Amino acid sequence: MANTRVSLVALVLASCLSLAAAQQAGVAKSEPVLDVTSMDRSVDPCVDFFAYSCGGWIKNNPIPPDESAWDTYSKMQDENLARLRGILEEAAAPEPQRSAVTQKIGDYYASCMDEKAIEAAGVKPIQPLLDRIANLKSKADFAEMAAAMPPYEDFFRRESVFFRFHSDQDFKDSTQVIAWLDQGGLGLPDRDYYLKDDSKSQELRAAYLAHVQKVFELLGDKPQAAAAEAKTVLRIETALATGSMARVERREPKNLDHKMTSGELQAIAPAFPWPAYFAKVGLPSLASLNVASPGFFKALNEELQNESLDDWKVYLRWHLVHEDAQDLPAAFLNESFNFYGKTLEGTEQLPPRWKRCTNDVDNDLGEALGQAYVAKYFSPEAKAQALKMVKEIEAAMEQDIESLSWMGPATRQRALEKLHAVANKIGYPDRWRDYSKLEIVRGDEMGNVLRSRQFEFNRKLGKIGKPVDHGEWGMTPPTVNAEYDPQLNDINFPAGVLQPPAFDMHSDAAPNYGDTGGTIGHELTHGFDDEGRKFDAQGNLRDWWTTEDGQEFVQRSSCISDQYSSYTIIDDVKINGKLTLGEDVADLGGLLLAYNAWQKDTRGQELQPIEGLTPEQRFFVGYGQSWCGRVRDEAKRLRATVDPHSPEKYRTNGVVSNMPQFEEAFHCKADSPMVNRNRCRVW
Ligand SMILES: [Zn+2]
Repeated sequence: MANTRVSLVALVLASCLSLAAAQQAGVAKSEPVLDVTSMDRSVDPCVDFFAYSCGGWIKNNPIPPDESAWDTYSKMQDENLARLRGILEEAAAPEPQRSAVTQKIGDYYASCMDEKAIEAAGVKPIQPLLDRIANLKSKADFAEMAAAMPPYEDFFRRESVFFRFHSDQDFKDSTQVIAWLDQGGLGLPDRDYYLKDDSKSQELRAAYLAHVQKVFELLGDKPQAAAAEAKTVLRIETALATGSMARVERREPKNLDHKMTSGELQAIAPAFPWPAYFAKVGLPSLASLNVASPGFFKALNEELQNESLDDWKVYLRWHLVHEDAQDLPAAFLNESFNFYGKTLEGTEQLPPRWKRCTNDVDNDLGEALGQAYVAKYFSPEAKAQALKMVKEIEAAMEQDIESLSWMGPATRQRALEKLHAVANKIGYPDRWRDYSKLEIVRGDEMGNVLRSRQFEFNRKLGKIGKPVDHGEWGMTPPTVNAEYDPQLNDINFPAGVLQPPAFDMHSDAAPNYGDTGGTIGHELTHGFDDEGRKFDAQGNLRDWWTTEDGQEFVQRSSCISDQYSSYTIIDDVKINGKLTLGEDVADLGGLLLAYNAWQKDTRGQELQPIEGLTPEQRFFVGYGQSWCGRVRDEAKRLRATVDPHSPEKYRTNGVVSNMPQFEEAFHCKADSPMVNRNRCRVW
């Protein structure tokens, strides 16, 4: 699931997504789904629709100093954080009659907020792990060490030592959960950071070296020794990066499909003690697993042989502190922010502690916190209205598939089967995750964090060999995002994204369809984008396309990747249209479906202009305003490398310029910039 699932927005690296203005636990007044004061009507919509829809918003919404970007979704997330803070502060009051769930979220939050205790503890909470690294006797002990340092994962960030080990559905039998082994072990956000040779990349590598050196100095090492250690880290990680599969290659599911026996893995990478590792993580008789990136494990194997035990100890020490910096004293936290926040993303200030702690509770205990959240902020009416819209968009897609001119009857039949099998997850799960085995102790911040990480690791591994649970959620209820999962064949809309201004129960229909309708269509279209189309109705990796229809799809989608590859992100950095293809196909397909669904929903009604905008114009401005936002230059570069989504401006302009409905709604001339002469259309 986690390997192939695709989301609406990706906010990279940032462990916190929010606004600076000192907010109390109260909730800011929400904005309407279409806000005319956010527009800039001096701009010709046929020249730059993004500027027309969002010019006012951009003028009125500077990026807060503790953010790397600021947009409609981060503002919603910010309102959500304030709501969650209110819930957590209440839960943290040590009342004797708290429920088990309230105790966990309240004590986790209180411990995270206790800066004095964290400062006083110093590195003591991770000293046992530092000692274990220091006492490693041979590389055979790496099994135990890797098991003792389970990966850190949140929605945006994944950290691991050596590699990533987890569980996921079997590509060929989606009913079963199997073990997955994948590349990992890097400290920089992508292999490109190690391998590219342009001046910007060299500059960032130098800054990374300086950062790693400082972290070793904070652990008490002399500057000269720390500098040598930083070089060791970079050398080992560069070797791992060289063996890693690139993001674009990873978009082809076939490239990740290598189920093999444990014996075959042993043959690829004999230098790592696999049997001992599997025994340590509770899977002593693991017979087979999927090795997503075999090339990486060959590189890891070589590097295990090439580097000394002492140099690997340096690598492990770095990763231990790096992954836990958020919960160590301020000196570590600030140094980590200086590199990952400031240098890599351009963020000026560390977000306030309450925001980071709220996010951590959401990440580690999301379905405990989510229970209180939906009870307070997600009404049955909102759920019913969202479901109604989902059904309408699904009906629009059915009609669309039935009427596509380029698709033959055999593929069409399979496509309809797949559409009819899509499951809808709206708001929150029917059954809440059970955290009763996770111990949360007030005052033990690092203990809580490490136990949560271990709990999540074990929870994932506990699914191996069992049938897949279709009721499980990948996102937490307060998340301001949406996703499609091709192996589960389901669309997910957490309660957090079904809030104003994206979804406003009191607005006229047009902008709601342009905004949330477009999002629903986007997620649905993911089932049929360049990646999603490789999976069948049951979520198996199986080609259900005729050769001809498959070729037609590739040709039509290359129109889109060519279009987006021509857009500039910053300086000479262009969109990598092959990386963003799935999202760009989903954006266009999604808005077309939403438009058709809206037309059907309002057929026969005498719709009138509102605030000087025709209903059709309000539909498109509703869509455009869902992407109002701005991004710091540093973060633009980072996203160009790691984010499969195009920048907001092109998610708007790239889509509308392919739609004749837009040209008509704004009476654009045929040679306007917002009229793509070579219109692309897939779905
Ligand atoms: Zn998406």
